[in-house]
Amino acid sequence: MKTQWIDELGQRVPLSRQPQDLQTYGRDWTRVYVPRPSAVVFPRHAEEVCEILQFCSQHGIAVVPSGGRTGLSAGAVAAEGELVLSLERLRDLGEVDPFGLTLTTGAGVTNHEVHVHCEHLGLTWPVDLASKGSCQVGGNLATNAGGIRVLRYGHARHWVTGLQVALMDGTLLNLGNAVQKDNVGPDLRQLMIGSEGILGIITRATLRLALLPTDRQVLFLAVDGMEAGLELLRHARIQGRFQLQAFEYMGRNCLEAVIKAQGVPSPFGGSGELPPAAVLIEVEGRLDGELDRWLEQVMAQKLVQDGLVAKSSADINRLWAYRDNITESLGRLGLMHKNDISVEVGRLAEFVHTLEKEVAPTFPGELYLFGHLGDGNLHINVMKPSATDPEEFWDGCHVADMQLYELLHKLGGSVSAEHGIGLLKKSALGFSRGPAEVATMRAVKKALDPEGLLNPGKVFDL
Ligand SMILES: Cc1cc2nc3c(=O)[nH]c(=O)nc-3n(C[C@H](O)[C@H](O)[C@H](O)COP(=O)(O)OP(=O)(O)OC[C@H]3O[C@@H](n4cnc5c(N)ncnc54)[C@H](O)[C@@H]3O)c2cc1C
Repeated sequence: MKTQWIDELGQRVPLSRQPQDLQTYGRDWTRVYVPRPSAVVFPRHAEEVCEILQFCSQHGIAVVPSGGRTGLSAGAVAAEGELVLSLERLRDLGEVDPFGLTLTTGAGVTNHEVHVHCEHLGLTWPVDLASKGSCQVGGNLATNAGGIRVLRYGHARHWVTGLQVALMDGTLLNLGNAVQKDNVGPDLRQLMIGSEGILGIITRATLRLALLPTDRQVLFLAVDGMEAGLELLRHARIQGRFQLQAFEYMGRNCLEAVIKAQGVPSPFGGSGELPPAAVLIEVEGRLDGELDRWLEQVMAQKLVQDGLVAKSSADINRLWAYRDNITESLGRLGLMHKNDISVEVGRLAEFVHTLEKEVAPTFPGELYLFGHLGDGNLHINVMKPSATDPEEFWDGCHVADMQLYELLHKLGGSVSAEHGIGLLKKSALGFSRGPAEVATMRAVKKALDPEGLLNPGKVFDL
């Protein structure tokens, strides 16, 4: 392989070919593909990003944008000798604008750093996910991240007023700024959000901020399974006179995985058997006993078997940790195949019923279900049995996936609620997007990146 271009590029911008860096920056959280990038570049500002892209366009070099590498769909994987472009040095973090409640930040600032930056003003960027310590604002926007507060605030795309984006030919676009109302033609900023690094590289963003919720109430409730969890949600929505911040679900085996991997006790105390499932509910505001009244009602109706109410912020953190640590804990148990699906909340019971009866038995391993129940979003994880060969396992999962996607198609659901398509879910795209829509996506891609050099092979093939 000719590598002269790497030396040439390395003379202009910080670049690494260290084997450890190639391994680290050539992959995300998925473990399906072997990382094989040619090199990793670390631009220090947007102009350097443009210079790199222009250089790569001229030399026909494929580029993979890389954020915090917490992605779960192999969107940031470089397995074909691509150049990885890390955004981690774009770390300018501006002051909060106290009039418009906005904040301008470099793409490489982590989600958590943004939260900490605004917290002392009683403000937050309400995009909140368990990977917040590592995922970056650029990655959050490139994936249109969801997370635990979508129920209340919606996805990341609702919390952006401006975006700076570098195109593959080196053009730098400034799409909006801190102005809140701005209807001037088609919104290219929204086109870039969620495009998984195939249309442009986000270098900077102006984020909208929300008031940090005060008087947080957190309940951790034992339920008899998904249907009971959904019934509880219906009750909370209709009878609960309170604002839900989060409504999260986890099956018993997910809870067991957290207890084992993190070495923590059962949230319900004692050494008795765990319930079939648990629901974590967060509610905001002063409630004047409303939450207690609701809890009494659902206990009386036997929708809840057991429950805990957080009494302090330490309690809140402790209970949230059971939910936040699921992905990481499952990862420690062994190889996992992941699906991240959604259906209308009202059809979730029907979906789960068919999933359990018809689709689950076709997967070559045990299913671990958890997710953002309030959004109709379930993470379906399949554990590789220790005796099964990995290739055989992935192949078996792929076959079962097709049945899962057929079911989703029938119910009008989505094959990717939050994680995106990347490399991993390409075969699923057609179940949630029609041929004309995919053709239009391809046309947009070709207009911006005619040679297909930016994050090639992700989302669809050209
Ligand atoms: C424990 C855990 C919990 C998670 N929980 C959630 C959750 O609740 N909700 C959710 O939505 N996701 C969740 N995720 C997935 C992941 O954290 C999100 O998709 C996140 O937004 C990815 O950000 P990142 O910076 O890590 O991006 P990366 O993984 O580095 O990249 C993701 C994609 O974006 C592209 N990209 C990255 N930066 C840029 C940029 N600056 N410009 C253009 N393209 C770019 C990459 O090429 C890739 O296609 C979770 C992951 C983990 C490990």
